[in-house]
Amino acid sequence: MLALLVIVRFSVYVTTPADKLLFTPGPLTTSATVKQAMLRDLGSRDREFVEVVRSVRRRLLALANVRQDLGFETVILQGSGTYGIEAMISCAIPPDGKLLALVNGAYGARIAHIARVHGIAVHEERRREDTAFSDADVAALLAADPAITHVSVVHCETTAGLMNPIEAIARAVTAHGRRLLVDSMSAFGAVPVDLRTLGADFLVSSSNKCIEGVPGFVFVLCNRAALLACEGKSRTVALDLFAQWRGLEQDGQFRFTPPVHALLAFSRALDELDAEGGVAGRGLRYRENQQVLLAGMTALGFESYLPAAVQGPIIATFRYPRDARFVFEDFYRRLSDLGFVIYPGKLTAEPCFRVGNIGRIGAMDVSALLAAIAATARAMGFDPSARAS
Ligand SMILES: *Cc1c(COP(=O)(O)O)cnc(C)c1O
Repeated sequence: MLALLVIVRFSVYVTTPADKLLFTPGPLTTSATVKQAMLRDLGSRDREFVEVVRSVRRRLLALANVRQDLGFETVILQGSGTYGIEAMISCAIPPDGKLLALVNGAYGARIAHIARVHGIAVHEERRREDTAFSDADVAALLAADPAITHVSVVHCETTAGLMNPIEAIARAVTAHGRRLLVDSMSAFGAVPVDLRTLGADFLVSSSNKCIEGVPGFVFVLCNRAALLACEGKSRTVALDLFAQWRGLEQDGQFRFTPPVHALLAFSRALDELDAEGGVAGRGLRYRENQQVLLAGMTALGFESYLPAAVQGPIIATFRYPRDARFVFEDFYRRLSDLGFVIYPGKLTAEPCFRVGNIGRIGAMDVSALLAAIAATARAMGFDPSARAS
């Protein structure tokens, strides 16, 4: 009884009271004010909407510390994150190009898969899901294969929550005269990115991750020269980054039905990001969430999968307790019934589950989740500290 009393789902942020808290990698818990910003109809050619799109594109560049007059562009594309990744891969790499895909999780593997579907030559370089790539790895691979023209890297590999050191990797790629393509889907907005110094051609993120908007679009931050080089090169119509950009630049219009409501919500989400202190403030809250989570889970006996050196602030991965009374589906359902949604694992190597730190949640919410996890472990009768013998 006592245990149940402490499971008061309390959020310091104004969310929608009836909704469960999402400890997931996206879509995420969003603020009530972000959702309220969608409660209207606006024509896609309306001047007000065109102005929202223009300002969102400008503000996204500013988050990466660049501007149009410094030679950078933003292209917004309808769809989920993968649509933007496919647009980048299928526009940027020419028919005689070759991609070095750095793969230490499911999202890196997805990039390699997309390239193969488009008939692009790929060298898929794999590491374990708990092992980051280094600049030395990349330098050696590039020195060994002069046919490689492009390198893809996942900033935060959401499969386990690992951070790849994109700045060091970018230096190795630039030093070898190759081009870098970055999937920063789950990091951008909470982990600093400086496109002015990074030297990447393209960097992709989406509306429903660290900027805490709703799903509906993806954005590609582009080096303008690299974007202009994509003219006429796209292998698809809908995912043509250059054509999409030209439309947005010429008359402020999307070529096809725009995600009006998602953009209205996102514009509000950017205001709330600014109010929190921008990327630094958002990153601080996520790191606090992460510290409370890891300390609390470790105290309960759970084992974190990633070594601390590669653990990012976005999501944490925990090994299944080796106790027959731990059944993930039951654990998940009981937590969900208490108002907390966690996430299944995505590792190929080991059975794990994941807990996200991103979205409109704070340390109080993480503490409430920890109390619910403790009570659920007791109710199911498993020992979180049971390890493989
Ligand atoms: C979320 C995510 C994506 C995109 O996934 P979608 O389901 O298409 O939105 C891509 N890469 C990473 C690292 C992600 O976290």
